[in-house]
Amino acid sequence: KKKAKIAGKAASKTIKQAGVLGAGIMGGGIAYQSSVKGVPAVMKDIKQDALDLGMGEAMKILGKGMKIGKVSAEKMAKTISNIKPTLNYDDIKPVDIVVEAVVENPKVKDAVLCEAEQLIADDAILTSNTSTISIDLLAKNLKRPENFCGMHFFNPVHKMPLVEVIRGEKSSDETVAAVVAYASAIGKSPIVVKDCPGFFVNRVLFPYFRGFSQLLQEGADFRQVDKVMEKFGWPMGPSYLLDVVGIDTAVHCVGVMAEGFPDRMSALDKDPIEQLYKQDKYGQKSGSGFYVYS
Ligand code: NAD
Repeated sequence: KKKAKIAGKAASKTIKQAGVLGAGIMGGGIAYQSSVKGVPAVMKDIKQDALDLGMGEAMKILGKGMKIGKVSAEKMAKTISNIKPTLNYDDIKPVDIVVEAVVENPKVKDAVLCEAEQLIADDAILTSNTSTISIDLLAKNLKRPENFCGMHFFNPVHKMPLVEVIRGEKSSDETVAAVVAYASAIGKSPIVVKDCPGFFVNRVLFPYFRGFSQLLQEGADFRQVDKVMEKFGWPMGPSYLLDVVGIDTAVHCVGVMAEGFPDRMSALDKDPIEQLYKQDKYGQKSGSGFYVYS
């Protein structure tokens, strides 16, 4: 009963401040999105470089908006001042919701989530932006799993409207409702999905990437595949999309999908995506992947 009460409070709580753990591609984007829609965000990373990059990205997006007259100087200043970059965990203490967006590694996420849970208020909400890791698995060591669920944004966060809200076995209805409300408040279109490997979008996307890898193994040229998919009407082909997502993140997802659906998604021998990973070609974030970026 006590637990239900706390979860109930979580739902009625208005999200006034968010905490984002990890200032990488996703964390930086989530902190920006929250801030630009009026919910200040504390952005925590373990590396100053990552924080600088996250803030730099926010400035870039706002700068572009200013150039085309969509963003005023006042809006830019307010959005930037509403993102608080920090290396100090204590700064997340007052937040109403935490969005964890650190590396796609269950052990790291587990440690980060448990540490965050100890710091935030009992009625604050904890979420993970994991692409593929089971929400029930991540909830295992939490003291208040009812206040936890998945909140999966897509890349680039400021452009992609969809957010998957992943309901774990123990996530309360109130938590799910509060996360749906927060996603809507920051301009996104949330859908509530079950906890399964790949959730919804990656269950559709990764069979497509697998088909693409098989085509490459059969001798197709990745540039041609991209061109054809663009002619088909998609905004970008699979190689470019994988470079945007991050080859390291994709390789991790491939593993999770293979484990979750061994009958349909078993690992490919010498998967071209994995070959890039082995050469430290992580896509846009590292300067090269399928393509080279300057
Ligand atoms: P990234 O490598 O760009 O960023 C990860 C950040 O986490 C780094 O800045 C790193 O310094 C930081 N970090 C590592 N350990 C930390 C800790 N203990 N505390 C705080 N920060 C820590 O990765 P990303 O692409 O932003 O992915 C982050 C999460 O979002 C992953 O779970 C990924 O699966 C998910 N995701 C990624 C995409 C995508 O397209 N890249 C899309 C949706 C979801």
